[in-house]
Amino acid sequence: MSEHIRKCAGCAGKFGRAGMIRVLKNSVSGEILINPDNYTFGRSVYICKNKKCVEAAFKKGRIFKLLKTQPQNQLKEKLLGLFAGKE
Ligand SMILES: [Zn+2]
Repeated sequence: MSEHIRKCAGCAGKFGRAGMIRVLKNSVSGEILINPDNYTFGRSVYICKNKKCVEAAFKKGRIFKLLKTQPQNQLKEKLLGLFAGKE
């Protein structure tokens, strides 16, 4: 059994993708999607499922550089919203 290993944009740790949030830039529309289906193609970034790594991924706009996109105001709130009520 082999699992795809992805690098977290926050802590730079390497983990199986099942435990991570995937953020993808749609290669056609340029739209940023969180945990898209597997049929959407584009540049993607992975982040551990915790607030600390989400915060770290946004430091100095790192996630936007990785996605090669312009900074988007609501993306961080959307990602942090995934944890709302869970802590
Ligand atoms: Zn991480």
